[in-house]
Amino acid sequence: MQTCGICGRVLNVEADPLSGDCGGDCWGCIGLIEAKHGWQQSVDFVAAEIASGLRDADGKPKPPEQPLPKS
Ligand SMILES: [Zn+2]
Repeated sequence: MQTCGICGRVLNVEADPLSGDCGGDCWGCIGLIEAKHGWQQSVDFVAAEIASGLRDADGKPKPPEQPLPKS
């Protein structure tokens, strides 16, 4: 199982839009870094992900949704 070199998020999880593999790190981390460097495409993506609730208001990726524990 591959995980992000920065935050440890599991990569390429279909249900987790921020888990895309960006050269060994997740999109959640890489997108924020690129946005901070002013890459317009990433700025737009990150803004959309903040709007849809995938990221906090400052662009930090929220942890992936965990499946409900089985009781
Ligand atoms: Zn990460």
